Amino acid sequence: MDVRAQLASVFHLDKCLGCHTCSVVCKNVWTDRPGAEYMWWNNVETRPGTGYPRGWEDQDRWRGGWQAGDGGGPALRSGGRLSALAGIFHNPALPTLDDYYEPWTYRYGDLFDARASDVQPTARPVSLVTGAPLEVKKGPNWDDDLAGSKEYAARDPNLDALSPAERGQLFGVERLAFFHLPRTCNHCTNAACVAACPSGAIYKRGEDGLVVASSDRCRGWRQCISSCPYKKVFYNWKEGRSEKCIGCYPRVESGEAPACFAACPGRIRFQGVLLYDAERIREAAGAPERELVAAQRRIVLDPYDPEVAAAAGRCGLPEGVLAAARRSPAYAFVKRWEIALPLHPEWRTLPNVFYVPPLLPLFAEKPGDVARTADGLFTDGERSRIPLAYLARLFSGGDGAVVALALRKLVALRLWRRAETVGDVGPAEVEAAFAAARLCREDAAELHRLTTHAVLEERVVLPPALRAEAMAPGGQATA
Ligand code: SF4
Ligand code: SF4
Ligand code: SF4
Repeated sequence: MDVRAQLASVFHLDKCLGCHTCSVVCKNVWTDRPGAEYMWWNNVETRPGTGYPRGWEDQDRWRGGWQAGDGGGPALRSGGRLSALAGIFHNPALPTLDDYYEPWTYRYGDLFDARASDVQPTARPVSLVTGAPLEVKKGPNWDDDLAGSKEYAARDPNLDALSPAERGQLFGVERLAFFHLPRTCNHCTNAACVAACPSGAIYKRGEDGLVVASSDRCRGWRQCISSCPYKKVFYNWKEGRSEKCIGCYPRVESGEAPACFAACPGRIRFQGVLLYDAERIREAAGAPERELVAAQRRIVLDPYDPEVAAAAGRCGLPEGVLAAARRSPAYAFVKRWEIALPLHPEWRTLPNVFYVPPLLPLFAEKPGDVARTADGLFTDGERSRIPLAYLARLFSGGDGAVVALALRKLVALRLWRRAETVGDVGPAEVEAAFAAARLCREDAAELHRLTTHAVLEERVVLPPALRAEAMAPGGQATA
């Protein structure tokens, strides 16, 4: 057993306000500089929709991530380092500025310098790339909240998984629904960007699994950009090198939560250590598509298991990391409660940002019918406003049962709280919901506390700073 520590995150989608505070904070801290204006290391997109950059999930076009190999484990869709070298001077699988948007500012000076006149002065938008006046037609969240739009929502590639009836359900005016999907780099365990970089400039930090790009070693080949299926590596056109989310490692190393976590007013973000068995990465990444969620969970190790603790010691993990793994909210959400799921596991990068799928409000078939369905007080997966098949395409490699179980846990939690606070749900109904969700009362209580009352220090449980030890001879920095 080769035990490694990975900082992993959980985003609870029912709690996301779509306020974009996370994106703005990250922009102000990390990408507010020339060449990086169009980059949103953290972005929040409305779903269904095409996201940022537009259509980033279309791997037939971008050839990102991994595909199942011929018995020898997963293979890079882009063809690996040798193909990368061949494609250095011509790589058609790269998004252009048009796929993102042309960043702009306004000529604010015009407001101050305008001559006295009866006409109100205006600040014209100008491109931050060319400086020329620009007619603004798109932006990173231009289509925010455009549920049901034929221009935006209808072009979501995941809608392929839906039957005509389900599509109709999604676009019927009285059933319109959407949710917000915040996205950062996933700091993947089987990172395609790392595998594709011909210069070895992107690497995974041994001590905490964060994936970072070295600006000294980057030669601007951009193979990382096409190989990342999440399109979370960006090219700084001014400096000629790739950049990406760094997991706010300078903050993390000093015990501070990443900026986008600390600033999130919806308190949807949780972070903690997952221990995993590096010897089984290949096996997990090569599992059949519908088993990928379970396979990824299987390589996550139980930090309370004495054998795991002993192996962690042999692998050089300090006691403080083990202690942090035991208090990790990520471990609770991902492994204990099985309620947080990876985004597009079928790309086989083993992403380390997990999502609690959204339990949207029940669809009311007639006025007043918002209280009970045959299955309980709130909706079940089949009556969810967002079809289960859509969520399964996003979070489980197409296996609806995995998402349905997570939704049942959310339903059970709400039923139980309703019984406690309003009192119009009977104990038998609550017990039935707990049984259907495979959730015990103690876990429900902890899940409820963590998602309602927990302060930042409980939502983000960081291991002690380990950079110095990792860099020492024999340390894990190069793992
Ligand atoms: Fe690399 Fe991050 Fe993309 Fe994963 S999400 S492949 S770690 S850039
Ligand atoms: Fe940006 Fe830090 Fe959040 Fe990464 S972790 S998206 S660098 S604020
Ligand atoms: Fe707002 Fe948090 Fe959602 Fe970002 S993740 S949009 S900060 S609620």
